[in-house]
Amino acid sequence: MLITELDLNDKKVLVRVDFNVPVDKNLGVTDNTRIKSSKKTISYILENGGTCILISHMGRPKGYDEKQSLKNIVNEVGKVLNKEITFINDCIGDNTKRACKESKKGDVLLLENLRFYSGEEDGDLEFAKSLSELGDIYINDAFGTAHRNHASTGILPSFFQGCKAMGFLLSREVDAIETFLNNGQKPILSIIGGAKVSSKIEILNNLINVVDDIIIAGGMAYTFIKSMGGEIGNSLCEDEFLKQAKDILFLANRKNVNLHFPEDVIVSREISKTSSTEVASIYNIPTHMEGLDIGPKTLNKFSKIILRSNTILWNGPVGVFEIPNFQNGTKQIASAIAKATECGAFSLVGGGDSISAIKLFRMDDKFSYISTGGGAMLESIEGKVLPGIKAILN
Ligand code: AMP
Repeated sequence: MLITELDLNDKKVLVRVDFNVPVDKNLGVTDNTRIKSSKKTISYILENGGTCILISHMGRPKGYDEKQSLKNIVNEVGKVLNKEITFINDCIGDNTKRACKESKKGDVLLLENLRFYSGEEDGDLEFAKSLSELGDIYINDAFGTAHRNHASTGILPSFFQGCKAMGFLLSREVDAIETFLNNGQKPILSIIGGAKVSSKIEILNNLINVVDDIIIAGGMAYTFIKSMGGEIGNSLCEDEFLKQAKDILFLANRKNVNLHFPEDVIVSREISKTSSTEVASIYNIPTHMEGLDIGPKTLNKFSKIILRSNTILWNGPVGVFEIPNFQNGTKQIASAIAKATECGAFSLVGGGDSISAIKLFRMDDKFSYISTGGGAMLESIEGKVLPGIKAILN
């Protein structure tokens, strides 16, 4: 059900948001993207006569920890919403219940960090029941935690039969992934990078059923190259995954999916901004060197594949983009996807490091959709129905 199908007038609306924002040592918010992302849902509830009771986690506290209290972000939430926010220093119990009951139409309450109670991460039914007593309607707008079967995401919705829905952010995330997985216009391309093949095996296995082309780059490419007999020098390699890498090569071939690997790479003796670099064939890297970015020939080849694709998913940098000497590949790949998007392709970018990269290059407005959830997006692409989404649909 969509939030627009619910009557919110005079209702206390319990909204699960993801306000797990980074803070500096003075506890100031350093990036308010996640707060901004739920603004549309919160404003919609207020405009339609509801009261917003915001619930969220922050960090991974073991019991109460002042540094991870949501009171530290109240001012920032107020600034983003341009509204006074009432902070309640607990998320369950009689005082919280009273505050929620006494709140008025148009009020916004922010409750304390859900994870101060172990019942949240344990998916505890009693904890979820206590939360359920605070509102009339449940809205989930926290895509970043939708893959967790926690009390506030996987259990709480069961107390709101017929009066629960996804917020605008969550439904946009679901739609973007749905477009990619089920309604993508061909040719469909995935670019999968990042450090480890081990964390992307499931995704690759599912993508083979969906896409026409897969570009495999970044640190994870070297395990594949070694499995094909290449000499990869000191490059990242997970030897225990050589067999799975071979299985993926076999499966892709059987399903007529084109796998593309780098041909030339930027190699160096060490990962440092002062180290000298060379270009080498990915199949013949000197023993004391490691591959840290894609080379010019590869960039040319990958750019052509990107520009002829109509649907593109990108997850994971193609080099050590954090260091200027090894940044060019990731930057040029981002530019090529942006160009394809400008020409009409649908592009979906997700995963923490790809987002950090495009923010660094100031290109975060150049793609069709940027997912706010790293793990949640990866699990969706693996073909899983996320507990937080299942609980809304049931
Ligand atoms: P992941 O979290 O698996 O998506 O990996 C992201 C990390 O992969 C980033 O910190 C990159 O610096 C790193 N990375 C990308 N390419 C390479 C490479 N060729 N060698 C080592 N690390 C890499």
